[in-house]
Amino acid sequence: MTCNETKNLLNAYVDGALDSAGSLSVESHIQRCTSCLTDMENLRSLSSAIQNGGLRFTAPSSLKRKVQAAIGAANPGVKRSFFNWRWAGALASAVLVVVVGLLLSAQRPKSSEEALLVDDIVSSHVRSMMANHITDVASSDSHTVKPWFGGKLDYSPPAKDLTAQGFRLVGGRLDYLDNRPVAAVVYQRSQHFINLFVWPATNTAIKPEDQLTRQGYNIIHWTQSGMTYWLVSELNLAELSECARLLKE
Ligand SMILES: [Zn+2]
Repeated sequence: MTCNETKNLLNAYVDGALDSAGSLSVESHIQRCTSCLTDMENLRSLSSAIQNGGLRFTAPSSLKRKVQAAIGAANPGVKRSFFNWRWAGALASAVLVVVVGLLLSAQRPKSSEEALLVDDIVSSHVRSMMANHITDVASSDSHTVKPWFGGKLDYSPPAKDLTAQGFRLVGGRLDYLDNRPVAAVVYQRSQHFINLFVWPATNTAIKPEDQLTRQGYNIIHWTQSGMTYWLVSELNLAELSECARLLKE
């Protein structure tokens, strides 16, 4: 793996969110790369600082005065001396810690989950070509590829033959994404491989097609008839869009 690929996976690695193959690739890289190792250690200490509530802010004196004034206005009968400013300061700090924690956790879901998934999809695509393990079943016949998934998945992915349209069906492979085994249907256009990852959609709401580029790979994502589709390749976006259009027909 390159430094860029490693750095993209580091957050997930530190959070323990990578699959075992991903963790192994990161570990073998940081064993021989000081730069990525340092990044990983920095992320680790940031993550433990957040977990230990080590992020603290001292309330500024202007805030103290505002709180003091507000309390005075709301409770005219309360004598100022009853109020212990040490505790007020501690309370304000604690509130800030909670607020910062909530902000950090609120920012994480969705966008970062989807970003992690996109990273995993690109990694799976790259790995399938690097390991020379692009297919588990090699066939250009959809009547061979489709039934092959039958005994291995609890759903039946499409394995359209698009050879006549210039996208040769190469075969199928089992992969692991989004915490589940998924189907990878493999196509080839000139010298470029295309992985189509398919699994049942958890959110069946119709989404407009997404087009992304990560690390030089083009990715097209859509949902259709209860399935989620991720098409990934180094093929240019125009031809990959054509492939997506044919698959959707
Ligand atoms: Zn590196």
